[in-house]
Amino acid sequence: MEQARQPLVLKTVPVPSPAEHQVLVKVIACGVCRTDLHVLDGELSQPKLPLIIGHEIIGIIAKKGKEVVNLNEGDVIGIPWLGYTCGKCKYCNNGKENLCENALFTGYTIDGGYAEYTVAYERYCFPIAEQYANASGSPLLCAGLIGYRSYSMIGNHVTKLGIYGFGAAAHILIQLAINQGKKIYAFTREGDKEAQSFALKLGASWAGSSYQSPPEKLDAAIIFAPVGDIVPKALMDVDKGGVIVCGGIHMSDIPSFPYKILWEERMIRSVANLTRKDGEEFLKIAPEIPIKTEIQTFPLREANEALDNLRNGKVHGAAVLTMM
Ligand SMILES: [Zn+2]
Ligand SMILES: [Zn+2]
Repeated sequence: MEQARQPLVLKTVPVPSPAEHQVLVKVIACGVCRTDLHVLDGELSQPKLPLIIGHEIIGIIAKKGKEVVNLNEGDVIGIPWLGYTCGKCKYCNNGKENLCENALFTGYTIDGGYAEYTVAYERYCFPIAEQYANASGSPLLCAGLIGYRSYSMIGNHVTKLGIYGFGAAAHILIQLAINQGKKIYAFTREGDKEAQSFALKLGASWAGSSYQSPPEKLDAAIIFAPVGDIVPKALMDVDKGGVIVCGGIHMSDIPSFPYKILWEERMIRSVANLTRKDGEEFLKIAPEIPIKTEIQTFPLREANEALDNLRNGKVHGAAVLTMM
């Protein structure tokens, strides 16, 4: 990425060398995430430039930098959005490294995975179970993790959960939620029958458009669609005490709404980034269920096409770039 609001450029650049505490990783696959679109569109306005985007990386360690202690050449690892934290600020000291003042983000403030090679700090790499050591594992690294973090915010009383925006994150989360006995109500773009039947196939109890009312009041809602209009709608869909979790990093403005739809202890909150604890927990649970990702693969040189497909709602499940 050379500039915001321009297509990515395919370029040959030197293979990076791993600094202290870093590993050089030969990329196997990298997922295409909505956040990549927000970076490209300038909605996330502080990227390193030029930048290699991509933060759902499955790769194999090709070389260790100095002071790397736990990883070895040949290990398959996953690299998520959270690329580095300082370990010293009040958030890091409080178990909230996802809010670190000095964090670096893969594919945004440091180079990411739309490439044949990348480097990553050892402490932010996750070991990957064998069945995910390929393109199918990529969506777990952001769609899966952000879904998991959002899900952990809905509260314990929830049986009826609404998911708004049925893309990469939702298709993973629904498998976890159903495994834990939740009833899922899937909301999609208006008229997106394909996404609705996909949700039903994965076990949703009901599927409809984001502007339809569910057949019963929900206990909580998670919004993955980057559409602020959905927030007041979701507030009207949840019962007393219900939490609305906004799972995206960017959303269009939320329109004003009457206080009475927030009344009775309904809540709206966002989730930001991830902690390594989220990653460790989720990547342990995923193979136990086991979560299966539905992917559509593209070669690296078709990255712009993959992004366009995501933008236009043409991807069911997740788009993934493959390098090997
Ligand atoms: Zn920090
Ligand atoms: Zn992402």
